[in-house]
Amino acid sequence: MDFQTIRQRAEHALMPTYGRFPVALEKGSGATATDSEGRILIDFGSGIGVNSLGFCDAEWADAVARQAARLQHISNLYYQETQSLFAAELCEAAGMSRAFLCNSGAEANECAIKLARLYAAQNGREGGAIVTLQNSFHGRTLATLEATGQDAFHADFGPFTGGFTYVPAEDSEALASALREGACAVLLECVQGEGGVLPLSNDYLRLARRLCDEHGALLMIDEVQTGAGRTGRFLACEHAGIRPDVVTLAKGLGGGLPVGACLCAEPLAAVLSAGKHGSTFGGNPVVCAGGRVVLSRLMSPGFLDTVTRKGELLRTRLKAMKGVRSVRGLGMMLGIELTNGDARRTAERCLENGLLVLTAKTLLRLLPPLTITDEELNRGLDILEMVLAETTADTMKG
Ligand SMILES: *Cc1c(COP(=O)(O)O)cnc(C)c1O
Repeated sequence: MDFQTIRQRAEHALMPTYGRFPVALEKGSGATATDSEGRILIDFGSGIGVNSLGFCDAEWADAVARQAARLQHISNLYYQETQSLFAAELCEAAGMSRAFLCNSGAEANECAIKLARLYAAQNGREGGAIVTLQNSFHGRTLATLEATGQDAFHADFGPFTGGFTYVPAEDSEALASALREGACAVLLECVQGEGGVLPLSNDYLRLARRLCDEHGALLMIDEVQTGAGRTGRFLACEHAGIRPDVVTLAKGLGGGLPVGACLCAEPLAAVLSAGKHGSTFGGNPVVCAGGRVVLSRLMSPGFLDTVTRKGELLRTRLKAMKGVRSVRGLGMMLGIELTNGDARRTAERCLENGLLVLTAKTLLRLLPPLTITDEELNRGLDILEMVLAETTADTMKG
């Protein structure tokens, strides 16, 4: 089907929830995709940080296909080998005790919110709020939308149920005061992704850990975007040397299949007991088979160091480019502040020239597949450099 036909079908059949770029992808391999017109594109977005092993990694595709041909789903009323192995390997990689498996980042955060409230109730602290940060992003379901500290997302979706307090990032007094008022948990991202690729300082993260300990509150880290190796560590919070009580993962964890996980430390292992939470599809064996390949790749010796190295390669070249005001982020999660200030238009120009990039607020955002080759990285960077030289020179007329 040609692009215009695909677009027309989509626009008649789908709710218009996305501001889509004018391209239809047909197939891919590594960090290289082919669109419906046969054009080649370098991928610096991996979905949105989802295709951590790139398009159709051979080992991943094989494990997924084999599992699909063997047993595609069973109810969570029964045990299943692939699911139990994935959960054990995931807990091991993250240094946590137990996992609840679900299907998305928002669901993983819903689980964390329910866990925090139930734990609070069991400890005579019911009604304690969950503290989140201004400018955060935690998902699109009603509870995670309410947890998201950005008013723009809330408008017209009320009534909300309450139970969240928002504090500015890096403001230690505001956090301390929210905890003194009886908050039961803190939920935060180590690098605010949708908020504009804003890393929190290690000092602030350590302070959050210390304040939660002092006040008996849970520290819950939303690693939906930063986790699964994206920043050069399995979890981004490892950079600050802190251990959360609860951590949520999704995006890159399944290598392209819908997976979410809420992990907890040992003292919380039994809080969500039988009947307290559940998911029909959560822990699906096909998804877990893909996730196991992702985990074994990420945890293989030296792999995460290649993420760090490629992140540095990106930064070095980006910083030297005309049109780049600053570069921020961690590992292969980067935000680029542009002198032309128009990330969307710049991303469109990149697409026209064969490069897929993302935006976050007014920044360009790069989340390349973790397995991208140096050759693909440099080809993509060449395109970006050319686009930026152009769009900076003519300040984007047309
Ligand atoms: C994407 C994202 C979510 C939501 O994940 P979905 O899978 O879209 O529900 C939650 N938190 C963070 C930090 C995210 O980046």
